[in-house]
Amino acid sequence: MSNVETPRPIRGTQDIFGPEAEAFAFVVETFERVRKLYRFRRVEMPVFEKTEVFSRSLGETTDVVSKEMYSFDDRGGESLTLRPEFTAGIARAYLTDGWQQYAPLKVATHGPLFRYERPQKGRYRQFHQLDAEIIGAAEPQADVELLAMADQLLKELGIADGVTLQLNTLGDADSRDSWRVALVAYFQSVRADLSEDSQERLERNPLRILDSKDPRDKAFVADAPKIDDFLTDQAQDFFGQVTSGLEAAGVAWTRLPALVRGLDYYRHTAFEFVTDRLGAQGTVLGGGRYDGLIESLGGVHTPAAGWAAGIERLAMLVGERRQSVLEQAIIPVGEEAESIAAQLLAKTRRWGTSAELFNRGNLKKRMQRAADAGAFWAVIIGEDELAKGVVTIRNMHSGGQFTIPLDDMLNRVEMDDGRFVIRDDPNNPVGWTVFEPAESQ
Ligand code: ATP
Ligand code: MG
Repeated sequence: MSNVETPRPIRGTQDIFGPEAEAFAFVVETFERVRKLYRFRRVEMPVFEKTEVFSRSLGETTDVVSKEMYSFDDRGGESLTLRPEFTAGIARAYLTDGWQQYAPLKVATHGPLFRYERPQKGRYRQFHQLDAEIIGAAEPQADVELLAMADQLLKELGIADGVTLQLNTLGDADSRDSWRVALVAYFQSVRADLSEDSQERLERNPLRILDSKDPRDKAFVADAPKIDDFLTDQAQDFFGQVTSGLEAAGVAWTRLPALVRGLDYYRHTAFEFVTDRLGAQGTVLGGGRYDGLIESLGGVHTPAAGWAAGIERLAMLVGERRQSVLEQAIIPVGEEAESIAAQLLAKTRRWGTSAELFNRGNLKKRMQRAADAGAFWAVIIGEDELAKGVVTIRNMHSGGQFTIPLDDMLNRVEMDDGRFVIRDDPNNPVGWTVFEPAESQ
């Protein structure tokens, strides 16, 4: 034992392993499949950006910018920030990398993000998101496509039950301005009863009060003026097209007129997919339209919309998952068998069949370990087998066994639909030998 103390992990970070890591991977793999169905192009983005990328686009008074960013001066004295979200960096790249030529551009990515928050279940300082954006599209169909994609993702993850799409519109600039005036007047009248944070928000960013998690504020949010009374005809029409598009796509939703998102850049559509199965951290996916964001980064007016989903929260809903199936456990006994096993192992994996070597402990132990690993087939190469020039194949579920000549096994056998076969005549699909346990077993 060394007497050096092991450094502790950073508060709010997670080392994800075992069934939780499998669930995490399942979420990412499913997202990758769905984003291809919707033809979103994959992008990889830097983990850090100049601080102004975030401070100018998310809004100085948002929680993220005012107190959650990991910002630091690098050795050249430049202020950099570990990304707290994807959208601002993607918008920056749209401008600096000439992505305008691809508009409307559909992109998707996933990876780690950083926010200095109070760590708790479902809330971490390093967490991970899936992200999808459509940049350069003003039509409500873009909002609908993003929502249909999110909806399909949740369904394919098998977690759509108990997750509700809450939808709102924040209107256009004119709608928001008159709504804002009404909100200020209303919250002024109850000012003394609001949380200290919200009293300050009243001056700088009254919409933020609607997003407050403080119970003192929540009491007043229900009765606050609703956006619907301030929507311009155009804003009303836009929202109508989004909802009829959702109808056509078969996406269920509920209206939540007090819904505002945690970042300032949203216009028109805003939404969250929420569940009550994760306690206080019930929002699994959120997004909306951000027509003003690209301008805040110095670009020309560019309509856009997108969403992000917390991978850890989705993975918690998915629940624990086992490692992917093990198709073949290769079990050699003795030195000669070991070298045959090494050849078989390499060959099997090259077929595209998963295989693992079990060569510790006695034969009984090896069989037990293979069973514990969930192996479908055991390929046994023992002394008896070597003497007869065969390998024994055992179906670990039924217990049925058969043998295959060793020479065939190494040179001619292929896997077809989970079975061991030899293609007698490569041009004649009927001319196959299939190895299987005898019926009577
Ligand atoms: P919340 O209201 O839970 O703080 P948010 O509005 O700050 O969420 P967004 O910035 O919209 O969240 O991020 C989108 C999604 O990312 C959230 O719905 C959530 O699933 C996830 N998420 C956000 N912050 C964290 C975090 N600190 N830890 C884990 N997941 C997070
Ligand atoms: Mg937050």
